[in-house]
Amino acid sequence: MAHLSPRDYITIRGARQHNLKGFDLALPKRRLVVVTGPSGSGKSSLAFDTIFAEGQRRYMESLSSYARQFLERMDKPDVDFINGLAPAIAIEQRGLSKNPRSTVATQTEIYDHLRLLYAQIGKIISPISGREVTQDTPRSVANTLQNSLPDGTRFYLTFPAPSIGINSLFIDVLKEKGFHRLIDRSVLYEEEKIRLIDLNEPLPDDAPKYLCSSLVLFDRLVVRKGDDKTTSRVADSAELAFREGNGDCFALIPSAESRDVLESRLTFCQRLELDGMEFAKPHPKMFSFTSPLGACRSCNGHGSSKGVTEALAVPKPKLSLSEGALKPLEGSSWSSFKDEMLQFAKKMRINTEVPYEDLSKAHRHVLWHGDGARYKGLFGFFQHLERFSRTKKNRMHRARFIGFGKCFQCNGARLCEDALYVQVGGKHIGEVGEMTIQEAKDFFDHLELSRYDQEASEILLHEIRKRLSFLIDVGLDYITLGRLSETLSGGESQRIRLATALGSALVGALYVLDEPTIGLHPRDTLRLVEILKQMRDLGNTVIVVEHDPDVIRSADHIVDLGPESGTLGGELIFQGPISEMIKHKDSRTGAYISGNESIPVPKKRRRPDWKRVVDIKGANLHNLKNLNVKIPLEVITCVTGVSGSGKSTLVKEILYQGLRDRLEIQFPRKKVPYRSLKVHSSINAVQIVDQSPIGRSSRSNPVTYVKAFDVIRHIFSNTPQSKLHNYQPGFFSFNIPGGRCDECNGEGTVTVEMQFLADLHLPCEECNGTRYGEEVLHILYKGKNIHDVLNMTVDQALEFFSDHPRLCQMLHPLQTIGLGYLKLGQPAPTLSGGEAQRIKLASCLVRPANYHVFYVFDEPTTGLHFVDVRKLIHAFEQLADARHTVVIIEHNLDTLKCADHIIDLGPEGGAKGGRIVASGTPEQITRISESHTGRFLAPLLASD
Ligand code: ADP
Ligand code: ADP
Ligand code: ZN
Ligand code: ZN
Repeated sequence: MAHLSPRDYITIRGARQHNLKGFDLALPKRRLVVVTGPSGSGKSSLAFDTIFAEGQRRYMESLSSYARQFLERMDKPDVDFINGLAPAIAIEQRGLSKNPRSTVATQTEIYDHLRLLYAQIGKIISPISGREVTQDTPRSVANTLQNSLPDGTRFYLTFPAPSIGINSLFIDVLKEKGFHRLIDRSVLYEEEKIRLIDLNEPLPDDAPKYLCSSLVLFDRLVVRKGDDKTTSRVADSAELAFREGNGDCFALIPSAESRDVLESRLTFCQRLELDGMEFAKPHPKMFSFTSPLGACRSCNGHGSSKGVTEALAVPKPKLSLSEGALKPLEGSSWSSFKDEMLQFAKKMRINTEVPYEDLSKAHRHVLWHGDGARYKGLFGFFQHLERFSRTKKNRMHRARFIGFGKCFQCNGARLCEDALYVQVGGKHIGEVGEMTIQEAKDFFDHLELSRYDQEASEILLHEIRKRLSFLIDVGLDYITLGRLSETLSGGESQRIRLATALGSALVGALYVLDEPTIGLHPRDTLRLVEILKQMRDLGNTVIVVEHDPDVIRSADHIVDLGPESGTLGGELIFQGPISEMIKHKDSRTGAYISGNESIPVPKKRRRPDWKRVVDIKGANLHNLKNLNVKIPLEVITCVTGVSGSGKSTLVKEILYQGLRDRLEIQFPRKKVPYRSLKVHSSINAVQIVDQSPIGRSSRSNPVTYVKAFDVIRHIFSNTPQSKLHNYQPGFFSFNIPGGRCDECNGEGTVTVEMQFLADLHLPCEECNGTRYGEEVLHILYKGKNIHDVLNMTVDQALEFFSDHPRLCQMLHPLQTIGLGYLKLGQPAPTLSGGEAQRIKLASCLVRPANYHVFYVFDEPTTGLHFVDVRKLIHAFEQLADARHTVVIIEHNLDTLKCADHIIDLGPEGGAKGGRIVASGTPEQITRISESHTGRFLAPLLASD
């Protein structure tokens, strides 16, 4: 990195956004820069709100006038100047895709390439015979004739005559088009003779009555091997013959001895036909489930729909047809329908005595859909019930078999039948969607293609393989391509965006990332670092806000902010390479990395009482393999394992849902997929503390969440001025009309939808973003109005309201767990997932329950520097000491080493995970060789 000139830096002067204390900074371009420091020290204010925001502003300036008109309302970061900025791209965890149909494949653009690939080289396979449906082209006709016939062979190129009624009109039309000779079809077929009829002469007496059933002679040609001119001429003729013959043309070859004896004939068809079915020509739109051309007609491309489901109609697939496998046809009222079905089955040679599940797919298809003629199938039966739905009996009977499930038509593939007939490598595009990313990579790596197909698809395959590799590199090999984006965790979707950004390979850009290691096990962190380095090596500047020691160690340049949070932070403690940081006396990050400072291993661990547990048997969901697991009460348990190993499934979907099912009255009751769950009676409640937002509206915020705002409104309504006007506490609310701004309904912002760009949130012009009307803002308490109070940080508010012990009691936990820097009124949607989770944790500490609560946390260290992790662990200990139970999904090694009990899932992600690899105290885990976690944990326990 030696000898960089000033042009190789992004220079920042006087950074003062939020709490930043006006420092200067020079970040080397085309390097990996890590911004670190305690939470609230100003990392995001620097990386996102200053550097990225200014980069985006400058980019907007270069855009359309429509975009530019909002520019002056976009906040300009508080900074003297920034030099050397490139177009900036932020990859955050927030801001998930809004399209409910978006999947991993569409989001990563893999699907766009797949669609082109299928349109380009897909083979249509007939569902009836399983044979490939091919189509003749003028070129293929010419090649066949030139190659398969001996040199010098004469042949006639013909096409079927158009069917125009009476002979005289017919002859006129043909002659007008320049065709003068017909070939009598009946003579050709019956006697294998070529009988020419000359239209310029009077018709012979024995001419066919309906000339329109004959063939029209288009051209007489001779095979000339290896002569390109002849090949072209044949192709030209074939093209015209196809056009005249509506896609059909025939070559008749007379025998060498006699011109009117047929030797052989070749038929060509330009339509896609086989087995009596006609197929559609593959086309990129046909594979798009968001296009009306591609979407399954039955579920409109959603993959699931409401309707008759096979699972309900055939509840016992082990029964045969005659034993009553088709439940809708059972019962005396429907016996005639059952008889009809059995007769039809006999006719179609469908075995009525074997279990339904053993019938072939084709047989089941006709049982449901009918034969397209007389028998209408089970669907026909349901249509009948629907048509006569005035009788209650019919209505009720039909309703019994209606459910919401996988679409029956497309079987969840979301696409129309035509699209699903097209295969590459023996799979249709829906089957590719069911593959995990690793399986898809293997599939496309080993695809066997003809040379022609290979050349035609080389670029597409390269793009697909490249994107799949990136996804594997960011540790997402276990996710299926068709997985809905909505169901991904924040960390997973951020890593998908990271891989996508790499896939579309911008060069010379500025990427700003927010804690990309979220959700990653230490084992996979170094692979992620490799990806970051690749982005850098493409010529991009990569700025990462991160706390992970491995990422910090890999940085080319580190910016360490501190020393603490909020007003006590915002200073530049250190910038430079790691070798200097660990020697720097003020850098706590440096001290932590060098090992001079660390979170102590607890002297004593709580010993689980194995008689007081939550005992789960036979947990079966997603990839869990019939797990039996015991969670001890009143201790701290960490559930860990590599990404995709099943932690969230076990803890959130099974344990949490199961406990709710036990402890709360829920309607409708959810069926939790386990065999049994036993819970010790001492638990009174279960609470999940995860990263989901504390509210979706900008009217929710930290102070409303911990219920402290009620107290504050009360204080304002008690001021002399309020009493004078008789303002009640409700007047100070921004949730109900009265005192709040009418323009934005107390939101403080208005949202402008931008074409092609992310929505812009601009301050409300009426109230200037204060959320309140004039009257409210005139009411002062100790010289501050309510808007000023909402703008205070928790730290400031604790000082300002120090004479209100009840309020302080509510705010204090926010400070204890490291959120002292948060503004009371910071809108919920702008809080990070980690902050939202810690606010929830604080509210647990605000109202310490005097009964036993089972707490579930989801990666609570997200967004935390090790300084904060220490505070967090302290909060967990408080909970456990108060005899609550704490279960934490976590990868953070400092948290793991402080746990009382660890459950390590794995060994890998997806199908290769879902088992318990190790369980016990942290020390016990380190002794189990298969445990990835144990391997990474060992050094931390040994060094203390
Ligand atoms: P970090 O990223 O290091 O956790 P932030 O940059 O988010 O820290 O916060 C630094 C300080 O700036 C905090 O005191 C925080 O309250 C304040 N701050 C953050 N975002 C805003 C905002 N949108 N408006 C006002 N103050 C903010
Ligand atoms: P972890 O929390 O350890 O990262 P998860 O419990 O999220 O793992 O995932 C375990 C497995 O279950 C993975 O293969 C994942 O792809 C799958 N999975 C998780 N959630 C869903 C879902 N909503 N739909 C389908 N598969 C899922
Ligand atoms: Zn469908
Ligand atoms: Zn307003």
